[in-house]
Amino acid sequence: MAVTKDPGDATRRSFEAMWSDLAGVGRDPVRGGYSRHAFDDADRTLREWFAAEAARRDLDVETDRNGNLWAWWGEPGPDALVAGSHLDSVPGGGAFDGPLGVVSALLAVDELRARGVSPTRPVAVACFAEEEGGRFGLPCLGSRLLSGATDPDVARALRDPDGVSLADAARRAGLDPDRMGPDPDRLARIGAFVELHVEQGRLLGIEDPSAAVAVGTGIVAHGRWRLTITGQGNHAGTTAIADRRDPMVIAAQAVLAARDAARGHDGAVATVGRMVPNPGGTNVIASSVRLWLDARYGAAADTAAVVDQIVARVRQLARNEGCAVEVAQESASPAVTFDPVLRRRLAATLRVPEIPTGAGHDAGVLGERVPTAMLFVRNPSGISHAPGEHAETDDCLAGVRALTAVLQDLSMADRMSADES
Ligand SMILES: [Zn+2]
Repeated sequence: MAVTKDPGDATRRSFEAMWSDLAGVGRDPVRGGYSRHAFDDADRTLREWFAAEAARRDLDVETDRNGNLWAWWGEPGPDALVAGSHLDSVPGGGAFDGPLGVVSALLAVDELRARGVSPTRPVAVACFAEEEGGRFGLPCLGSRLLSGATDPDVARALRDPDGVSLADAARRAGLDPDRMGPDPDRLARIGAFVELHVEQGRLLGIEDPSAAVAVGTGIVAHGRWRLTITGQGNHAGTTAIADRRDPMVIAAQAVLAARDAARGHDGAVATVGRMVPNPGGTNVIASSVRLWLDARYGAAADTAAVVDQIVARVRQLARNEGCAVEVAQESASPAVTFDPVLRRRLAATLRVPEIPTGAGHDAGVLGERVPTAMLFVRNPSGISHAPGEHAETDDCLAGVRALTAVLQDLSMADRMSADES
């Protein structure tokens, strides 16, 4: 790649120090990996860590009304250049998904300062709240609320698995839930957003085995659906097979229906990763089962077609068993193509491969409203959303160099507008 300047020992040392600070926060002793969710203890520690890192750099930190964090280099103002990602994780997630983008953005600020760069536009490092939806079920919650993509009344009423509402959790974290919702003034300040992220598949290695970094092209449409299958709770020993209305049997077939439907569409994926039987006893035929379907394919209509096929199959199977099925869509994200001007500019600066992704990101939400781009860092195994997620330190440092080069290029507001006019 064109960016050859060594980030130097200082950046490596800072990276390793920040990474070891984060390593102990929110470890999940049961699932392995990390469970860091909005407004829980780990989240609070991560927010304090971010504020301390920002303070060490004399960056002013604000928490916006939706719980997103902003560390400003220069006065907050219009046409800001924003880099960042998120600090929360899926249940039992890896170390890199999210934190790599935040750490890299902080290190890029250090690098720019070390190079004597004085941006002519405000620069901010952002951390978006509840990106994974690991606690309240709705991914990219912070960026959706900020951009107006989610109705704050709907968001406030979301409940975590313990029944705690987002409104209550936010209040306990010091936010005013009544003020959650669209923040057009803040959104209008963002001139460009660049999210660096660990790659969550292995396209980067296939495209060019020597490349440690890629520019993102876009995100496929994706969504989450909750299926509630209701049958008849009963005794596992005394109820003859012929007499059963067992929703667990339908749930099992729903998992297979998802696999079959996805197989029928080249590139489609559909996953049941979570299933909760009620009441959940070993010697009990469940009375109902809730399961969550994650589907991703092409444009929104393509994803919907796959889901319709799965749901139709599940309904038919349920009828045969004497069960009922209710379907609720919990989230929907249309396909996103990142800003072509910004993307061209990143590609020209870095000369690295360009790849799409099947993973959702805050960049996808913000990309509907402001010029947005993504950088991906190589993930040798392609494993993500699991404890095995990994990126080599040298590749992470290549990511920092790439992000620094991009921010340096974009940091001159007059050049940006001159080039785009
Ligand atoms: Zn992420």
